[in-house]
Amino acid sequence: MRWSDNARPLGVYPVPIACIVGKPGPTALLVAGVHGDEFEGPVTLSQLIADIDPTQIEGRLIMLPAINSPAVLASQRTSPLDGKNMNRAFPGDPDGGPTDMLADFIVSVLLPEADLVIDLHAGGKASIFATSALASRSEDKNLMQANMNFAAAFGAPLTWVLGAYNDTRSLNAAALNAGVPMIAAELGGGGGTDPKQVAQAMMGIKRCLAHAGIINEALPEAQPSLLVETRSSADNIYAPATGLFDRHFAAGDHVEAGQLAGYIRSLDRLDDAPVPFHFTVDGIVLAHGNRGYVSRGDMLAMLVCETVI
Ligand SMILES: [Zn+2]
Repeated sequence: MRWSDNARPLGVYPVPIACIVGKPGPTALLVAGVHGDEFEGPVTLSQLIADIDPTQIEGRLIMLPAINSPAVLASQRTSPLDGKNMNRAFPGDPDGGPTDMLADFIVSVLLPEADLVIDLHAGGKASIFATSALASRSEDKNLMQANMNFAAAFGAPLTWVLGAYNDTRSLNAAALNAGVPMIAAELGGGGGTDPKQVAQAMMGIKRCLAHAGIINEALPEAQPSLLVETRSSADNIYAPATGLFDRHFAAGDHVEAGQLAGYIRSLDRLDDAPVPFHFTVDGIVLAHGNRGYVSRGDMLAMLVCETVI
């Protein structure tokens, strides 16, 4: 990526990309590192690049294990070059800043080549997600069914169906606009990697590639995935006070309205009573905040409910 600043006035910021071509067949675009502090995806794609045998595939794999490489090298969610969140930068701008240019490269150059897109995320330093695939609803029934079929093949315990609450500036939205089947995935979190999450992502990707006809490998069948959807952002829990986040639930838990979710404990006044907080709806915890000390208003729990398509 060409970007002139004080650090590299006339150089480039390298963005790693691998293209593995086998016999004629469909193209899968596999992306990770849109957010730079989510390392499960970059590790999974790096393993895949090392392991895949071009003679065994029918099609083409375009893999970017660190699309937002300035953010990945800095281990931070947003780009240190312009402060932008790449998953709020689509469709991008070829004449914009670094993040806009990277988003435009995906939309203008790579998406038109793709028959399938998989975008790997996780909670990063700030949050922990229940392992889930993300699939967009669409008025195009064939596209929506293709999205759901890939989510089922991925085989995560949850499939988060993106509807009205899908951000229109995300890669999911860009793929939807381009009419290209796509799933994203949330693979735990914490800012590092977890071998179980990496193994699950690898198996999920392979099942998707098999479903697309790109690889022909005997793989364990996917477990059924529970379809969930955001009912309202008002279902989420935000910190009612500033202090220690004493959490009494985990990502993936099924919870009930009125259930104790935890306490905020003051470090300013140790004799203050802890502030309890409760779930306000029945639902499933899709993600929770991963910070031990929170400020009033921080997201503590993201709630979804079961849905049908
Ligand atoms: Zn992310």
